[in-house]
Amino acid sequence: MIKDLSYSNGSVLSCEIFPPKKEAGFPKVFEVIDRIAALNPAFISVTYGAGGSNSGKQLEIVDYIQNAKKIEALAHITSVGYDKNALEAGLKNFEDKGIYNVLALRGDRPKDMTDEQYDSREFEHATDMVKYMRSTGRTNDKLCIAGACYPEKHSEAPDKLTDIFHLKEKQNAGTDFFISQLFFENTLFYRFLDLAEKNGIEIPIHAGIMPITDSNQLGRTVTLSGTSVPKKLADICARYGDDPEDMKKAGIEYAVNQAVDLMTYGVSGIHVYAMNKPELCEAIFEAVR
Ligand code: FAD
Repeated sequence: MIKDLSYSNGSVLSCEIFPPKKEAGFPKVFEVIDRIAALNPAFISVTYGAGGSNSGKQLEIVDYIQNAKKIEALAHITSVGYDKNALEAGLKNFEDKGIYNVLALRGDRPKDMTDEQYDSREFEHATDMVKYMRSTGRTNDKLCIAGACYPEKHSEAPDKLTDIFHLKEKQNAGTDFFISQLFFENTLFYRFLDLAEKNGIEIPIHAGIMPITDSNQLGRTVTLSGTSVPKKLADICARYGDDPEDMKKAGIEYAVNQAVDLMTYGVSGIHVYAMNKPELCEAIFEAVR
């Protein structure tokens, strides 16, 4: 399980992929996994659409990672979309395939969900899901739980300290490690690590990074994540935005430099938001190794 990984040989390298929305994109995702698996990552996480539409596909994908490729799979689950019954059924499906790692998330509200549906979810916060899973009698060797954290604070949190307070509750409920929201400026992450440590967060925190490979992606990413953009990255997009090949090269180079600096600092893990582009993991993993 992921919580048994050793951190003594440097940062643990991992990545995130997503199930394709359309059926036609499905075969390609296995090719993506084959290429990423060849890099021998510590684990590969697979996202979950809170609407629930891709849950079957997520299961097939984590099964392939865990059993065909023998790499630890981390299945994302969201309290938006999972009530207690669905969670039990979901965990059982994972367990039947020998998958014991889940990333417990609240999830964001899908566009087509009404206020009533969203507000009536059984688990209000990720922590409530963690508490429930830890109360089900599953032993520690049969359940490894990851959680999300936000170096620049979650968009709904009034301030960083309140966010860290709730993060500590998530840790104390039985979370084994955290994966951070993506960030483009390492100093912000280092300050967050410091604040977390001072406030009693003791479990490993993996750094999430996302290479920007086209200039439109930057706007979308910032809107979704609320991450701030350093001038250097904005300048790269302004300079290479009209040339897709140069933009991709420059974006990967920016992320590689970020990763090398994180590794040198000695972070627990580096988690690449790979967007189903194996070349991003290839560049980053090779550089930091
Ligand atoms: P929570 O931990 O519930 O926190 C949300 C907010 O509530 C924070 O502001 C927190 O401070 C506050 N809070 C927590 N507990 C309490 C409490 N007891 N009382 C009051 N306030 C509280 N979304 C998807 O839909 N699918 C995915 O696959 C997915 N993968 C992700 C992977 C990573 C690594 C990350 C960082 C995010 C991912 N997301 C995904 C997005 C995530 O669902 C959203 O960021 C969501 O808004 C918050 O999820 P959370 O688990 O951090 O929520």
